[in-house]
Amino acid sequence: MSRNLSSLVLLFKSLHTLRVKRISVSVRVRIAPSPTGNLHIGTARTAVFNWLFARHHQGTFILRIEDTDTARSQPQYTQNILDGLTWLGLIWDEGPYFQSERLSLYREAIQQLLDKGLAYRCYCTEAELDELRSAQKARGEAPRYDNRHRHLTPKQEAAFQAQGRQPVIRFKIDDERQIVWQDLVRGTMTWRGGDLGGDMVIARTSTTPSDIGQPLYNLAVVVDDMDMAISHVIRGEDHIANTAKQILLYEAFGAAVPDFAHTPLILNAEGRKLSKRDGVTSISDFEKMGFIAAALANYMTLLGWSPPDAERFTLAEAAQQFDFQRVNKAGAKFDWDKLDWLNSQYLHDLTPTVLTDVLIPYWRDAGYRFDPEAERPWLEELSALIGPSLTRLSEAVQMSRFLFEPQIEWSEDAQTQLQQPDVAPCLRAVLDALPAQLTPETAKTLINQVVKAQGVKKGLVMKSLRAALTGDLHGPDLIQSWDLLHQRQVDRDRLTQALTYTSVA
Ligand code: GLU
Repeated sequence: MSRNLSSLVLLFKSLHTLRVKRISVSVRVRIAPSPTGNLHIGTARTAVFNWLFARHHQGTFILRIEDTDTARSQPQYTQNILDGLTWLGLIWDEGPYFQSERLSLYREAIQQLLDKGLAYRCYCTEAELDELRSAQKARGEAPRYDNRHRHLTPKQEAAFQAQGRQPVIRFKIDDERQIVWQDLVRGTMTWRGGDLGGDMVIARTSTTPSDIGQPLYNLAVVVDDMDMAISHVIRGEDHIANTAKQILLYEAFGAAVPDFAHTPLILNAEGRKLSKRDGVTSISDFEKMGFIAAALANYMTLLGWSPPDAERFTLAEAAQQFDFQRVNKAGAKFDWDKLDWLNSQYLHDLTPTVLTDVLIPYWRDAGYRFDPEAERPWLEELSALIGPSLTRLSEAVQMSRFLFEPQIEWSEDAQTQLQQPDVAPCLRAVLDALPAQLTPETAKTLINQVVKAQGVKKGLVMKSLRAALTGDLHGPDLIQSWDLLHQRQVDRDRLTQALTYTSVA
């Protein structure tokens, strides 16, 4: 066989293996939020990437609530997380599983490690550990546990127990171990066991020395990921050091190690990790601020992933193209302008019917009074009027206040306009000629008649009418606004009240 031919055969064989591997690995991914706060934008973005990857490979997207920290976990946060994921359209295929309901599984796993001699009880007191850390600090060393209780004899253990000390359980970490994995985003990753802070605590103190206390994060995650047959762990890069520790745990259990993908952090304009100080961080805040779920989901997809072509797409469309080759290593800057732009694009595509449905809760929360059924046509006309000017749904509250509220306040600019010469007779003329039934056409005719009869510029009448009817000099189309006010029978009163601001000629 010639050289070329044999390399061709080799190539074919490797391609074949690849294909077989791709088909045989069933993708199972998970999002594992801790309910210690509302659904955070970073967690939601991680959920987006997991969801996209699962859908791309016809895999399974699992939701697991990591609520072992009983002091900080709250049911209302769990609800906020479930609501936020649902709102974004990140529907899970399995779960939610709750770690708090799986504690026996973790304890069994810890017992296995103890039985294998891979974990041990450590009786150090907080004071001893503090002293150790201070000494390390004084020597300019990084703080780490010095594994001092790794080889206690049964007699030494009994002595500590007799003193009433409550042990934690530590997992042995070999300082000399090199931990290497191929990260789907970051390429080859290497960690030294010695950089992991010494033997790691996997269970908190237990009151009875022979019991196993509260299992901790790294242990619980690995047990769950093994039990749930997770094929790919996709999470934020702040978990990289945990990954090194977790790989050692997989090995200790003799389990296959999943693939890892560490996604870049979301940064603020100054390049620091996006935090509460940047205004909003939870998905429910974004919802309140008036972002549309589809637009926010689209935007989050762009936080770290560069799509091959268009930047505007549904999650399902993104899933068709999603892969980790296009996920950047560098942090993703959160760009409010871009989010606003995307949101306005989505918003302007909504029909008045749909827009009305999404705006009703904002109007209701603002305390506006309306009958959502009887006044439905009026609300849809209003939506059609203000929709094109909206960037965020919440802006509809301010924009439509003068249409809902029977009483308004006139801005200083509006008052100044009303005090201009000729305004009073013009407004009076409009009032005198105001028909019982006003349409946009009759309103225009009426304005033209007043302009003619009063011998003034049309601009003056238009501007004054706007000031009088809306209380402001800027806003949606005047004729349409007037029409809406007239349908609610408030235009006559409004014009009469505005007259009190005019200077009597
Ligand atoms: N509960 C962890 C978190 O919220 C999950 C990390 C992981 O995906 O393993 O950050």
